[in-house]
Amino acid sequence: MIEDTDVLVVGGGVMGCALAYYLAREGVEVAVIDRHDLNTQASGTNAGSLHVQILSHWARVENADAIAATQRPLPIYVEAINVWRALSRELDCDIEFSAEGGFMVAETDEEMRILERKCARERERGVDSRVVSGNELAALAPYFSDAVIGASFCPYEGKVNPIIATPALARGAERAGARFFRHTELRALARKRDVFEAETSRGRVRARRVVVAAGAWSAEVAAMVGLELPVNRRALHMNVTEGATPLVPHLIQHMGRRLTLKQASDGAMIVGGGWPADERSGGPNPRVLRTSIEGNLWIAAHLVPKLAELRLLRTWTGFINIIIDGSPVLGPVPGLPGLFVSLASVGFTSGPLCAHLVAETIRGEDPSMDIAPFSIERFKAGVSSAAVNTFFEQSPTL
Ligand SMILES: Cc1cc2nc3c(=O)[nH]c(=O)nc-3n(C[C@H](O)[C@H](O)[C@H](O)COP(=O)(O)OP(=O)(O)OC[C@H]3O[C@@H](n4cnc5c(N)ncnc54)[C@H](O)[C@@H]3O)c2cc1C
Repeated sequence: MIEDTDVLVVGGGVMGCALAYYLAREGVEVAVIDRHDLNTQASGTNAGSLHVQILSHWARVENADAIAATQRPLPIYVEAINVWRALSRELDCDIEFSAEGGFMVAETDEEMRILERKCARERERGVDSRVVSGNELAALAPYFSDAVIGASFCPYEGKVNPIIATPALARGAERAGARFFRHTELRALARKRDVFEAETSRGRVRARRVVVAAGAWSAEVAAMVGLELPVNRRALHMNVTEGATPLVPHLIQHMGRRLTLKQASDGAMIVGGGWPADERSGGPNPRVLRTSIEGNLWIAAHLVPKLAELRLLRTWTGFINIIIDGSPVLGPVPGLPGLFVSLASVGFTSGPLCAHLVAETIRGEDPSMDIAPFSIERFKAGVSSAAVNTFFEQSPTL
């Protein structure tokens, strides 16, 4: 076990592994600890969708504060796709990146109106998105059933295989000199003079800098040094079918129902979209709910009839991190020198970019995108009740 390091990263998901990758490559000494194996929590259990469009439950917000909050991270998501594209060339294996664009579909006139409004909000922030219907939609996506009357289309959206990508980041980091300590839990953290002392399940570590990259458990880690991080967690459900011939090159979401759908490189249909799992199972993982299997697959086959012919292969669950205002929390923590937070919203999509930006601040450089709006400082004045109601009480449609 390590005794000393310059940077200690707490959490070995996509965020922690990407931080190690971007720090070690620039010669920074970095160690990552995770209480489980790497990539076993949200980063290895997510749907692998690369999202840019405002998520459907956030597209419905009406008040000015909440609208601004949904628009704020949009440039992050656009740039995040470029970072995944670059990683698909840099990493040592095929991470199954593709960006053929994504549809958010509507079945009713009211959903169409919300999509129009959502696209206008996206375009205000420079995101290319528009509503398509009729012959144009039929030509672009002939696999949809007649239930779909229109959709918003965003050309940047796509997918990456989460089982492959984060381990590839970890290998890249390790080759550059990063060290990984699996099954090593952080139990206490204290700042003593110029260094942090971390009590772990495998001994004490002294670190000059510490990064909280513990996803859905970041609030507990931050609380060890008295820092309040407004991040919650929800247990979500996922399905995967047997393989089919290539049919759906796009990412599919629904404006009014919980659905994400994509076809993996091996032909399997990956179906999710924010259906709940039972968090009170008592075991380490939330339990699958039969209602989530049935409801989720019904919607998928309702929109893409081919799905009804495929057998379900596997279901699984995972804990997603939900940040109270839907934006990432990135960068140094004022008042706690040496402490950094790296917590993403829509976190598989934006994890590597967020890690890249935080790594730049750790190296003492100006981040290549403005991260001031994503500083933890924004919570100093409190979070407006509108934002709380909009984001905190809902599980996202990822
Ligand atoms: C079912 C599901 C579907 C999703 N779909 C998508 C999607 O399609 N697209 C998208 O962009 N996002 C999606 N997400 C969200 C995304 O997966 C997460 O936001 C992202 O993976 C978070 O990455 P992370 O590295 O911050 O957290 P995690 O991957 O959860 O990693 C945090 C790590 O910290 C470790 N840890 C916690 N406490 C401690 C401690 N005290 N000591 C040591 N280690 C500790 C944990 O063991 C864990 O490995 C989905 C999430 C879920 C659950």
